[in-house]
Amino acid sequence: MMTFEELGLKPEILKALQELGFENPMPVQEKVIPLLLSKNTDIVALAQTGTGKTAAFGLPIVEQTDTKSKKTQALVLAPTRELCLQIADDLNDFSKYVDSLSVVPVYGGASIEVQIKALRNGAQIIVATPGRLIDLINRGVAKLENVSKVVLDEADEMLNMGFEDDLKTILAQIPENRNTLLFSATMPPAIASIAKNYMSNPLEVTIGQRNTGAENVKHVCYTVHAKDKYQALKRIADYYPNIYGIVFCRTRKETQEVADKLMHDGYNADALHGDLSQSQRDFVMNRFRLRQLNLLVATDVAARGIDVDSLTHVINYNLPDDVEVYTHRSGRTGRAGKTGISIAIINLREKHIIKQIERIINKKFELQDIPSGRGICEKQLFHLIDKLERVEVDEDEIAPFLTTTFKRLEWLDKEEIIKRFISLEFNRFLEYYKNMPDLEIPTEHSRREGQRDSFREGKREGRREAGAPRTAEKGYSRLFLNLGKEDGLYPPDLIELLNQYSQGRRIKVGRIELMKKFSFFEVPEQDAQFVVDSMKGASVSGRRIAVDWASGGENEGKQQSRGRDDFKRSGERSGFKKFGERGNRGEHGDRKRFDKDRGEKNERNNSGNRSDRSEKKEKGSFRGEEKKKYGRKKENRR
Ligand code: AMP
Repeated sequence: MMTFEELGLKPEILKALQELGFENPMPVQEKVIPLLLSKNTDIVALAQTGTGKTAAFGLPIVEQTDTKSKKTQALVLAPTRELCLQIADDLNDFSKYVDSLSVVPVYGGASIEVQIKALRNGAQIIVATPGRLIDLINRGVAKLENVSKVVLDEADEMLNMGFEDDLKTILAQIPENRNTLLFSATMPPAIASIAKNYMSNPLEVTIGQRNTGAENVKHVCYTVHAKDKYQALKRIADYYPNIYGIVFCRTRKETQEVADKLMHDGYNADALHGDLSQSQRDFVMNRFRLRQLNLLVATDVAARGIDVDSLTHVINYNLPDDVEVYTHRSGRTGRAGKTGISIAIINLREKHIIKQIERIINKKFELQDIPSGRGICEKQLFHLIDKLERVEVDEDEIAPFLTTTFKRLEWLDKEEIIKRFISLEFNRFLEYYKNMPDLEIPTEHSRREGQRDSFREGKREGRREAGAPRTAEKGYSRLFLNLGKEDGLYPPDLIELLNQYSQGRRIKVGRIELMKKFSFFEVPEQDAQFVVDSMKGASVSGRRIAVDWASGGENEGKQQSRGRDDFKRSGERSGFKKFGERGNRGEHGDRKRFDKDRGEKNERNNSGNRSDRSEKKEKGSFRGEEKKKYGRKKENRR
């Protein structure tokens, strides 16, 4: 193994590295540092996050900066403000003992005036997000004509976020004899094209196998019914008492909802997504860094800047649309020599995606059953006993209280004391899981049965659509929803929708009938009014959702204002005109409508703009309202 001395770094840097506890270079550093110090080579490095890549490019940059000149000599571009700050911090750490070296981070969402001042004072190294840098170039403050080293960090992420044109604009401003280094976790064609068009004969350095998930990450998959997803998440969180992880969701809305439910259920959790203002994001992130939160529920975009190396878990509450993104997610755990677990909670329909991911990460998922209530209780109990065994007893501090304590407890024998102590800490788990059945494991058989049922239902549906409504199963009420197959609605979507608005209450869903333009579903009688009420004001893709009592059968009496005829005549159900934003429906007539709602494309684009350009707009977000509702009281777990 090489040493940093052997790599040829100057004593001031070696001293700083020693203080940082960097004993030996990591593989990416061993490969990249000598190349950068000895030759003017362009490099494309395929390296996951957490592999030590910041030092790989940062140390040679610090080493080669001419501190006698105040001109900007190196530029590091990164996708997010958080990563920008993290890189600038690292560079400052590496250059702690190098005199007169100035690193200036510039990024969106912060005062441009302050950054202008900092740049005017001289910045030999600029670390920037692309959008803000272009602003500063246009204002004539960021001057790149003397830049000889450019780093594109997390280049794939920058492209994902829509920064491709910005990157090209920036690269066009920098002299061609520069040295360009590109770091990326994946190698999509757009990266290859940047390498081809903006770099000269780059050397390709691969750390680990291409696209491989981090070595020390175990990949685990739980298959559940869509309606059980949230319960599954809770069980996983309970099964790992020391969990410190990120729960990835697809949309900002889902992110907020899952976080709200977790907070409501007493977990130390919070949400991080693009609907939050920068200061809200900073607040949440800081709490997470300080481990005041065990679970951070986040979108991919928002999670990009999280610089925490000690995550025990990454949980894919929903798999990403782009399977490559899984690599980024799972790479957030198992960092800096630690082990981690990346969990995917999926339903049967998503099994093929797991296969695709396995091919990309070149590893198999362990298929596990969702922990049983008993299993969770045992795990929590052992955790408690473990804590008891490890607790440090401060003999001096505790001594004055012992006499009274012993006296108070002398009527209890050891066994009784242990039982009571355990109950004190543990009753809440026992209570919660006492009568809780195991989550049903979906099987191919149940799926086929489900499909057969839907087929039979479908055949009947044809008849009913033109005629009388059916009656609900015994004990169930039949409800109407103003979304149907043409809106891309499938049964799991409907269940997910209900879960989203059920405020943590578990709603059993009976038969579901999907028509072209609307649907019927059944819920237990006692829950029906609650569902109708809780769905008021709900929306998907900005379209209002309406749930109401269906006409006919036993629900007829509960109908508020409509008669059976409302359903009889036309597909448009004139009686339901009050839900009437149905006029544009045609243009969304496929599954994409739902997928789009889940997708983050909008967020990506917005986020790029937002982080660099328009933070102000974000005040008064939905989250603010929600915070008022739930407050932050229930920070402690159940
Ligand atoms: P990075 O991939 O640059 O985000 O680095 C991941 C983590 O590894 C950071 O916490 C670094 O401080 C740490 N690190 C980087 N290089 C070394 C090294 N040579 N020895 C020990 N830790 C390191």
